[in-house]
Amino acid sequence: MEKTDIKSMTLEELEEYVVQTGDKKFRAAQIFGWLHEKNVKSFDEMTNISKELREKLSENSVLTVLEPVNILTSAIDGTKKYLFKLSDGNVIESVLMRYRHGNSVCISSQVGCRMGCRFCASTLGGLVRNLTAAEMLEQIYRIKEDIGERISNVVIMGSGEPMDNYDNVLKFAELLNSPKGLNISSRNLTISTCGIVPRVRELADEKLQITLAISLHAPYDELRRTMMPVANKYSVNDIIDACKYYYDRTGRRITFEYSLVKDVNDTLECADMLSKLVDGLNCHINLIPVNPIKERDYTQSRTEQIEKFKKRLEKNGKNVTIRREMGRDINGACGQLRKDYIDSNTADS
Ligand code: SAH
Repeated sequence: MEKTDIKSMTLEELEEYVVQTGDKKFRAAQIFGWLHEKNVKSFDEMTNISKELREKLSENSVLTVLEPVNILTSAIDGTKKYLFKLSDGNVIESVLMRYRHGNSVCISSQVGCRMGCRFCASTLGGLVRNLTAAEMLEQIYRIKEDIGERISNVVIMGSGEPMDNYDNVLKFAELLNSPKGLNISSRNLTISTCGIVPRVRELADEKLQITLAISLHAPYDELRRTMMPVANKYSVNDIIDACKYYYDRTGRRITFEYSLVKDVNDTLECADMLSKLVDGLNCHINLIPVNPIKERDYTQSRTEQIEKFKKRLEKNGKNVTIRREMGRDINGACGQLRKDYIDSNTADS
């Protein structure tokens, strides 16, 4: 019999579970507290629960715990990159960014990714598997434990495509929001997607206050298809329509991510087309100087060109920022830490 993943359960689900297995309903709240508030690593630490129940739990259920295998700290700004090992031996990356307004954690939603974006290291080995809600939460719990401070913001912008793991991501958001857990509201959660249109619309209908970030990277389909295979499935116009729908339903301003690649998508013509595309939509454009990966031929736009691109967007009346490069000294591109770990471990064996 497969063991039950109790850390991925809401309090109501956990209540049902304990009652079904013959215990009192109030036990669920106690267990939930140990899991999501105290973040214990073993059933034995649940000291207000009888030994008998603890034994039953460990027999029938799993307590998901991630193990940090590598932590890099930036000497410049305190950014930390974590490499965590999952119980099946897979590894994933997470990042802690320290801002004046609080600590923000960037988590992975999948092991690997199947989206195939040309500039991204996370997708090079394809998709291995989805992460459970517990594995997404654990990334934050272990980082919180490591730094001994509160986490105030979460972005799902690490490896993986969150809309390709929709149900688990929603369950994660619900648990993140739990007053008996981290109590992080949807407003302080950002989901970044390459633009899976039906899922964007579905998320809009959930009526949550999650911030939506769209990885656009190109203002027209022909160019976008050369960078992101998903552009063969959904057009930029479909994406913009879905964003308008999202804004109408939630009132949340949309973020567009635009990674600048030298001589590919960084011309002023592109800036004008981008401005036109998002016209009338309450949005913010985040320019990301592309982080070159050795497996691909993309190079970063020159600083002057990035500034020119930004100025042109501003002249066109757009809100725009250039993403600060956090932890420049420890910075591999997205997914690079995991890939280096896998490459070196395969070379050893
Ligand atoms: N799959 C989701 C989230 C993961 S990627 C998405 O597509 O949004 C997070 C962001 O980093 C995306 O905007 C992605 O396109 C961008 N990104 C990935 N690799 C990059 C690189 N090497 N340089 C710059 N941006 C990159």
